[in-house]
Amino acid sequence: MEDNRRFLLVHPEISRTKYNFAGIIDNEPLELEYIYAMLKGAGFEPYIWDGQVEKQACADRIKELRPKFFYVCGRTRQENFMKEYCRAAKAAGAVTMVGGLHAQHCYKRFYESYVDYVFTGFDIFDILKVAEGRASAAGSLCIRNGSRWEERKACPFDIKKLPRPDRTYFYQHLDRYRYLELIPCAHVRTAYCCPYRCRFCYRNTLNCGVYSARDIGDVVEEIAALEVENVYIIDDDFLFSEKRIREFIRLVREKGIKKKYVCYGRADFISSHKELMKELRDIGFYYVLVGLEATDDKHLYRYNKKSDMYTNSNAVEILNSLGINTMGMFITDLDFKREDFKGIYRWVKRHKLRHAAISIFTPEMSSPLYDEYRSRLITKDPSHWDYLHVVAKPSAMSVKRYYMYYHILLVKLFIRAWRQGIYDFVDYKYYIGSILKNFFRFGG
Ligand code: SF4
Repeated sequence: MEDNRRFLLVHPEISRTKYNFAGIIDNEPLELEYIYAMLKGAGFEPYIWDGQVEKQACADRIKELRPKFFYVCGRTRQENFMKEYCRAAKAAGAVTMVGGLHAQHCYKRFYESYVDYVFTGFDIFDILKVAEGRASAAGSLCIRNGSRWEERKACPFDIKKLPRPDRTYFYQHLDRYRYLELIPCAHVRTAYCCPYRCRFCYRNTLNCGVYSARDIGDVVEEIAALEVENVYIIDDDFLFSEKRIREFIRLVREKGIKKKYVCYGRADFISSHKELMKELRDIGFYYVLVGLEATDDKHLYRYNKKSDMYTNSNAVEILNSLGINTMGMFITDLDFKREDFKGIYRWVKRHKLRHAAISIFTPEMSSPLYDEYRSRLITKDPSHWDYLHVVAKPSAMSVKRYYMYYHILLVKLFIRAWRQGIYDFVDYKYYIGSILKNFFRFGG
């Protein structure tokens, strides 16, 4: 009998509509590359299929490969794809496993006859234990026993235990993985979870709410070994510990590493560390993604952002003065009135913010906010949990009108970006056309 040790690791496509950021931001499947490295080291035969880059359909890949094990991860918006692929894998006789950010908290949504295991933590070694027939020794997971599910308590994972990711797949698709004009762009993770507790954000509840960080020397060694120039540090908040950042800068200089970096950072850190930001700029920090969230203190307070408008303005001013590209991220709240949408555009213009990303307020399914908004939900389709859809009824206007103001804001920001020539690699006509199509589809 064939000793089948093939293990297919899948990251589904983001969406099947054109209304996404494919071709603008395509993320290296880092989580799968950690698992790949671990499985290979244990004598399995792993394969990665990433829906962002693959041309062959996942179901065809499953049929061709006939894996013994199948693992899929994804976000809320990918839930339908994750289930579809599990069904196909189960039909092909594979042991099916689900993990990733969405499944960690919403594991019950995957209690299906065609799913065998749901992982509820970051501990990738639980996957190995299952594949080696040692599921009894695994921690953070749910196991299907016929039509019943056994739930084991999720445990925080020490990120220092992760192996080096195997980037074979990434290097095979260098023409695809990018962050805006930074292509190819590798992902590096230095920590799990976030020490802050912003109310709209579920990321601070991951890893059981425990912040776990790697030794910064190890991070720098990993970066030094990367065969690409651009590095996206995907921590929820990289600019957290001043001491750790200083050590990072020292080691990058000591090793003579010359790369461009993208990272997330909070406005309060940037605002109070101008000199440090200058040093980060000097070693190659190119984009800093900042959750500005709102253009008034009332919303910032309500979001428990622990920041204020003065701090936001100051942070953007500092980054602008240093020549670091700020990607300011905003939320359009469901209590927004027409003036609030206009207010975001005015703020962006007044503060000469070159890059702005706008998300619609979305109560994540795993968060207490979901219960709070339950009676106002207008959809239950998980694919709408992409921060581009209105999922709960706005309080000050109809859904149609809300979409209208939201899309007007997007078009204005896009035209502004086009005039400034900052996204020259983007097909503006295509994207503005796509926004306008949604404007008419969702309402105006
Ligand atoms: S700082 Fe950012 S990642 Fe952390 S809780 Fe707030 S929004 Fe979430």
